[in-house]
Amino acid sequence: MAGEFDRIQRYFMPLQQPPARPAPVVGNGDDALAVRTDQTLVMSIDTAVAGTHFPHEATPEQIASKAIRSAVSDLAAMGASPWFYTLALVVPTTYPEDWWDRFGQALALENQYWQMPCLGGDTTTGPSLVVTVQVHGLCERPLTRSGAQVGDDIWITGTLGDAAAGLAIALGQAPEQAALTQAFYAPEPPVSLMVELSSIAHAAIDVSDGLVADLGHIVDASHCGAQVAVESLPLSAELKQARAHSDALSLALTGGEDYSTCFTAPASQASDIVATARNHQVVVTRIGAIVAGKGLRLTQGGKPYFTDRKGYDHFV
Ligand code: ADP
Ligand code: MG
Repeated sequence: MAGEFDRIQRYFMPLQQPPARPAPVVGNGDDALAVRTDQTLVMSIDTAVAGTHFPHEATPEQIASKAIRSAVSDLAAMGASPWFYTLALVVPTTYPEDWWDRFGQALALENQYWQMPCLGGDTTTGPSLVVTVQVHGLCERPLTRSGAQVGDDIWITGTLGDAAAGLAIALGQAPEQAALTQAFYAPEPPVSLMVELSSIAHAAIDVSDGLVADLGHIVDASHCGAQVAVESLPLSAELKQARAHSDALSLALTGGEDYSTCFTAPASQASDIVATARNHQVVVTRIGAIVAGKGLRLTQGGKPYFTDRKGYDHFV
């Protein structure tokens, strides 16, 4: 069986590809990484625990893509470009060599996809798999949750509810549907689009806990209210086929883990936003408006619409 040092050499040192730009002053393999940049550095760290964030049966490929993409989603929401990440692992000693090999190869593919190498990390053992990814991105001016203004349009990228339906499939509670499973394990955070829109958008957040919870964070931080017509929520054909309409709506509103971005922007920019999104091959949908007051008001056919759930919270 390979030791810790061998594994790091074999599986993690090669993950310094593709080369970070700008290059690190001291790369991986020393006591610490050293970097230098003139731009604003944006950092976010996320931990995923087997049995909590993904089922124990998840494949190494699924775990790798989910860990990287959910972390990249935070960079997208800040309007930052991925620069590099660091990786802390707790891996049970019972995991076979083949698991490490597949996990490393899957990470290498993610590195290419996001043009984001792994420049450091830590590897230990423990009772359950834990994957912690800290992403580092660069931007001129970070986009925040607190900049929404009355009169802004509210936009959402991609579709909502697919990942929650995918989780139900992964847990064996619903029949297999490849596109929905893919939405759970390999979301597509709209990085390049949000980098471009960061000079136009007023506020943004990634949809990780469900639209109701996450748009709620924007209105709280921005001291304003929001009105959203539920009939305008983008639902995929796959979700509409797999679930009854009311069920699909409820997953879209409170399901979470879509890792799309919800952003607000002046109504005057609407046609520019649609054109820019098309250039980045991202579907954007206007779902409502920022209004005076506080809280989120949902409507259906112009009448108030109520949801029973608020979104995912680990502590309640
Ligand atoms: P230290 O004892 O100084 O913390 P380690 O033995 O933990 O060093 O790690 C040795 C080197 O291997 C470090 O440069 C570290 O960045 C790298 N490394 C360890 N685990 C990982 C990993 N999972 N991914 C990437 N690099 C790793
Ligand atoms: Mg260490």
